[in-house]
Parts: sequence; C-alpha cells; structure tokens
Amino acid sequence: MVELRPSALERDHYECQRCNHNWDSEQYPNKRKKTLTIAKTVHHIYSVEKYPEYAKELWNLVSLCYRCHNEVEGRAWFKFKEYKKKPQINDERW
Ligand SMILES: [Zn+2]
Repeated sequence: MVELRPSALERDHYECQRCNHNWDSEQYPNKRKKTLTIAKTVHHIYSVEKYPEYAKELWNLVSLCYRCHNEVEGRAWFKFKEYKKKPQINDERW
C-alpha cells in the first residue's frame, strides 16, 4: 500500500499550507499573516467518514501544522470560543 501522508508532506515541502495561505478553508479561514510553519499533520479536505472514496486521493490531502489542523477540525479551543460567545441568560431580578 502506498503511504499517502509522506507523499502529501513532500509535495507541500513540509510546510503548513494554511499558514502559507496556499489553502484556506472556507469554513475556518486563516486570518493570520502569511507564515511558514512546519507541517506535521495531513488533513483530509473531504472527510474520510463522508467521502471514503477520496481517502486515498493525494489531491484530497493538505499538509497542516497542529494549530491549523485543530482549527480546521474544530477541536478544543474552537469549542471553547463558541461556548464563550453564548449569550448570557438575563437574570430576572433586575
Ligand atoms: Zn498552520
């Protein structure tokens, strides 16, 4: 079986494609300045769960750093931010 992750990282020169603004997720656009960050993870643009037929396509892989991968996957601090954004329930006694 061909290992796709190293191929994707090699194609992207081990640089985070989101930090470099080569790949901007529509859902989680990168608002930071263009920077070169070492990519350590590979993200499936079309999720494997929804599109298993694209799981082994190189074009469906993008090299990302941990930070971007977390943001794109909507993990940890994204959930925390959402939680903080929730409106406060007004206290009736005022
Ligand atoms: Zn990044």
